[in-house]
Amino acid sequence: MTQMDKIKVKTTIVELDGDEMTRIMWKMVKDKLLFPFLEMDLEYYDLHIKKRDETDDRITVDAANAIMKYGVGVKCATITPNEDRVREYDLKEQWKSPNGTIRAMLDGTVFRKPILVNNIKPFVSTWEKPIIIGRHAYGDVYSGTEIRIPSAGRAEITFIPADGGEPVKRTINDFTAPGIIQGIYNTDDSILGFARACFTFALDQKIDLWFSTKDTISKIYDAHFRDVFEREYEKNWKVKFEEAGIEYFFTLIDDAAARVIRSEGGMLWALKNYDGDVMSDMVAAACGSLAMMTSVLVSPHGYFEYEAAHGTVQRHYYKYLDGEETSTNSMALIFAWSGCLRKRGELDGTPGVCEFAGKLEAAAIETIEGGTMTGDLFSIARKSPNNRKVNTEEFIDAVAARLREKLS
Ligand code: NAP
Ligand code: MG
Repeated sequence: MTQMDKIKVKTTIVELDGDEMTRIMWKMVKDKLLFPFLEMDLEYYDLHIKKRDETDDRITVDAANAIMKYGVGVKCATITPNEDRVREYDLKEQWKSPNGTIRAMLDGTVFRKPILVNNIKPFVSTWEKPIIIGRHAYGDVYSGTEIRIPSAGRAEITFIPADGGEPVKRTINDFTAPGIIQGIYNTDDSILGFARACFTFALDQKIDLWFSTKDTISKIYDAHFRDVFEREYEKNWKVKFEEAGIEYFFTLIDDAAARVIRSEGGMLWALKNYDGDVMSDMVAAACGSLAMMTSVLVSPHGYFEYEAAHGTVQRHYYKYLDGEETSTNSMALIFAWSGCLRKRGELDGTPGVCEFAGKLEAAAIETIEGGTMTGDLFSIARKSPNNRKVNTEEFIDAVAARLREKLS
């Protein structure tokens, strides 16, 4: 394409670069699938682990601020440093997970959606459409307090009001022998943010929203989640949902789990933190490969951050560094870009950009359905004489060839 024919993206996109094998693929995706066809302004933040270290992680905060300024960002996978990484990259300290930092600033909920292709069947034969998991990424057991009870004794739970009011105290258990206890919490603000993100996302995608908790057993904690969702729905979403022809449906988590298995998919399933953690891995595994799972952080304030659900694919990167051939799947990275472009196009009112995003996704899916795929999929795809295992770059080249056809 000449400069004149390129599709113009109106508003700046915030780009967060990352680490290892995903960083290698990130550049290939931009060079081969985006820059030849799009004229766009990118505000670039390099979240490479060394850059985070050099800036004392200021770069991550700056990137999150930029997403809040422009509204839409796209992020490559990044290393969350542990002790090994501190040694490997000679880091000043074990910097926090960039995703954690960004989530805390954007106040978001994470939505994960598998990419389905017709030659890789989900293990659940009734699933025709993707099941999207909306996981509340705040509180509960992830910030719980636990005590090992060594001997007989009374365990109590107490709330002490800051205004000097009467403390509220309950007995958890009178232990006659050793045991364990756990204290967990959540906040009304965070639950409401979670609810709003789920309603926003379901309406945006025009799909039903299911929400489930164990409210019959947890009559205050889980029931409160149910009530916050219900009130928010009645107040701000009921009319919009009815107009869009979609429904909000609350049910007990056991019932939801059984129904999901027998459903054809195609809904957003909102889940509390732990439930979402478990169920999103189950859905990912049932759909084939981690590399076929997209992820978007939706903030109740209307910010969007798109990424792949997988990590930096360290094992493949070491092979790459050794000069060996890799066959790493770039699908989730490609879909991070297409998701971000479509959202940008919607917000800007530029249908051409949304159309490009659709064509990019179609080109990528058709490449796999035509038999050209990376190793992770090659081993699980329906057998066909057309199937061909390609390397990392060959896959992206094959997508580029199809995309060119679609755009010409
Ligand atoms: P990972 O990068 O997700 O990779 C785990 C394994 O899954 C890979 O070794 C590979 O299996 C397979 N896999 C994942 N993505 C693939 C792809 N695109 N194509 C083909 N195979 C793929 O997880 P990890 O190795 O546990 O973590 C590596 C680094 O990523 C860590 O430093 C972690 O902190 C970081 N991480 C970042 C994010 C994020 O930024 N969102 C998320 C998770 C982890 P085989 O080796 O069997 O081929
Ligand atoms: Mg998990």
